[in-house]
Amino acid sequence: MSTMREKKNLEGKVALVTGGSRGIGRAIALRLAEEGADVAINYQASKEHAEEVSDAINSMGRRSCIVQANVNDFEQVIKMRDEVVKELGKIDILVNNAGITRDKSFVKMTPEMWSEVISVNLDGAFYCSKAVIDGMIERKYGRIVNISSVIGRMGNFGQANYSASKAGLIGLTKTLAKEFASKGITVNVVAPGFVGTEMVKAIPKDILDKIISQIPLGRLGEPSEVAGAVAYLVSEDGEYITGQIIDVNGGYYI
Ligand code: NAP
Repeated sequence: MSTMREKKNLEGKVALVTGGSRGIGRAIALRLAEEGADVAINYQASKEHAEEVSDAINSMGRRSCIVQANVNDFEQVIKMRDEVVKELGKIDILVNNAGITRDKSFVKMTPEMWSEVISVNLDGAFYCSKAVIDGMIERKYGRIVNISSVIGRMGNFGQANYSASKAGLIGLTKTLAKEFASKGITVNVVAPGFVGTEMVKAIPKDILDKIISQIPLGRLGEPSEVAGAVAYLVSEDGEYITGQIIDVNGGYYI
């Protein structure tokens, strides 16, 4: 994790990180708080983990709240938005990070496995963006970062659903970037490669070893390295960047 800086460039800003309880989302939430933002932590099931992240943010002197919602349920997302606005006043930064995998070769992939992944990873980002956009338009300021994946860029055996959802996020991002640039809202993608979280721990060791051997930088990424790219995009330094993809993958996809 990077060290505390003198200048808090996100001071006064409020961020909502979906799936902020664990893994990459947790690292993003902590990093945005470190940069000075107040941060709402969305989770689906891991309340204790969400509380731990929220407590850590409070101990940095930032405001924080936890908010349970399945991002693939629009009513729950609207309720989440309302709770965050009530607790923290507004939402300036949305990080659509919540995501799942349900891997199977295409022949064995069921329609349910397809729909489940598309609904969390892609519908979820649509619903959350929809829920926050009016407030951002009103304040003429917004930052949306969608967490895609190298798999959305390359495809991968056994991940038709996941790859389609993550490629879909790229199309969504580019369109929203064009629709909302004139409103002071930037929309970008961070596309991680393989990062050492629960999601990647689910990959069998022999397959993971093979993947690592194909990563030019020779190792998995750290959640904090993905968080760094998000922090850059939502910072003052990133304000002229919209509709772009930042790949954080150790050179796995060049
Ligand atoms: P993770 O460790 O499995 O954590 C997933 C997070 O998403 C958890 O906080 C989980 O909440 C939340 N979540 C899952 N379903 C949800 C739902 N329906 N509504 C709300 N929250 C939900 O995953 P990760 O590795 O940190 O991945 C985070 C994001 O990065 C995902 O979009 C993933 O596709 C992407 N990504 C990851 C990698 C990687 O190598 N790890 C690579 C590329 C992209 P609970 O804790 O409550 O379950």
